[in-house]
Amino acid sequence: MTERLPILIAGGGPVGCIAALAIARQGIPVRVFEAEANVADMPRAATTHAATLEMLAGLGMADEVIERGIVEPLFRIWDRQSKTIMAEFDFGRLKDETPYPFAVQCEQHKLASMAIARLRAYPHATIEFSVRVNELTQTSDGVEIEVQNAEGTRRIAGSYLIGCDGGRSTVRKGLGIDFTGYTHPERFLILTTSYDIGTMYPGCTRNYITDPESWFSIFKVSGDGDGPLWRVLSATKPEQADQELMNAAATEARLQRFLPKDSPYPVVHRNLYNVHQRVASSFRNGRVFLAGDSAHVNNPLGGLGLNFGIHDVIELTGLLGRVIRNEAPEHVLDEYDRNRRPLNIEFVQQQTIANKKRMEEKDPNARAKDFEQLRRTADDPAAHRTYVRRASLIESVKKRSLAPV
Ligand SMILES: Cc1cc2nc3c(=O)[nH]c(=O)nc-3n(C[C@H](O)[C@H](O)[C@H](O)COP(=O)(O)OP(=O)(O)OC[C@H]3O[C@@H](n4cnc5c(N)ncnc54)[C@H](O)[C@@H]3O)c2cc1C
Repeated sequence: MTERLPILIAGGGPVGCIAALAIARQGIPVRVFEAEANVADMPRAATTHAATLEMLAGLGMADEVIERGIVEPLFRIWDRQSKTIMAEFDFGRLKDETPYPFAVQCEQHKLASMAIARLRAYPHATIEFSVRVNELTQTSDGVEIEVQNAEGTRRIAGSYLIGCDGGRSTVRKGLGIDFTGYTHPERFLILTTSYDIGTMYPGCTRNYITDPESWFSIFKVSGDGDGPLWRVLSATKPEQADQELMNAAATEARLQRFLPKDSPYPVVHRNLYNVHQRVASSFRNGRVFLAGDSAHVNNPLGGLGLNFGIHDVIELTGLLGRVIRNEAPEHVLDEYDRNRRPLNIEFVQQQTIANKKRMEEKDPNARAKDFEQLRRTADDPAAHRTYVRRASLIESVKKRSLAPV
């Protein structure tokens, strides 16, 4: 009986919306509650990797992601001081392993909007904006949440609850689950410009420019209709205040320092982010689950956080579907926490921490050693393939599917 109640989702970001679509496609009722009035369109994730594209294909989204994004098989790691490419990696090496041997730069608000558009075809799926989830209770056979909008509060019953409500998750806090890890002292600044930085870094739209003093990375995104944009990501100093960083003169000076040119930069967005490496101490408590940033957060170098969050909900919604259809006993849901937590630590936390260390390494010997290792990896076909399998999260998916069920 309880299983006929909808699965409830707190948070209509990309992970919540994709979770809802994956549930609705199985014929299971689902309700999403999103605190904001609209899908947030600030510049965050853009890189969608091969393993994720395969999952999005299963939801009928991959073709549109490719059409609305920028396909890029390569990424390059540079030494800023010598302006030399230390290594170029090519996802094309995976062409016999995936139909998507590339990354697609497609902004995360587009992914959320694509999922919402598809969700509207299912009468048993709803998404309500400007509705905040305040608190939750659960019993052995159901959940109940209190939601709030401008009119007041109401209580909603469901069969399960998935907290897709981001890094500050109300659901995680409501369950009293620790968010173990640390926050980096510096913040990351993204400056988005319509200037074609590709003229300075031709041949590849994903570039990581390492520098012991001041690293940066540049990525092209397709934008929202006024032509492509470039994002320039860099780290601030811990002591720098917003005012000092965000004024037009400071952002122009920063861009000119990294990418000098004769005229000023047209800047479309300036965004500052706190950066964390944290993993929830559990991804499940009874009938309540955490997925996406509510379960894990990491620095954006490598473009892994959202990708992994999408993998979370593909796995979770598959398990929930089997349990709801009585194809599997309830205890298979234990697999979710058992698999996803260690996979996040091994494939997302470790990689992003290593990527950040590479970008900022100050010890000249360690830098030289790392560059030498990178070059050897890029030059050796088997090592190159292993590297891009890991970077694209294909290896994490293969490891998961080999795990005993
Ligand atoms: C600068 C930057 C670049 C990044 N680049 C990449 C990348 O290239 N690739 C990648 O994979 N990842 C990247 N990431 C990470 C990615 O942005 C996040 O992993 C992603 O946003 C997680 O999606 P989510 O849906 O879990 O959470 P969110 O996007 O944070 O969405 C959570 C939603 O829940 C809503 N909400 C919060 N509380 C409540 C509540 N109580 N009730 C109802 N709704 C609520 C919020 O309004 C929000 O809409 C990047 C992050 C940053 C900061």
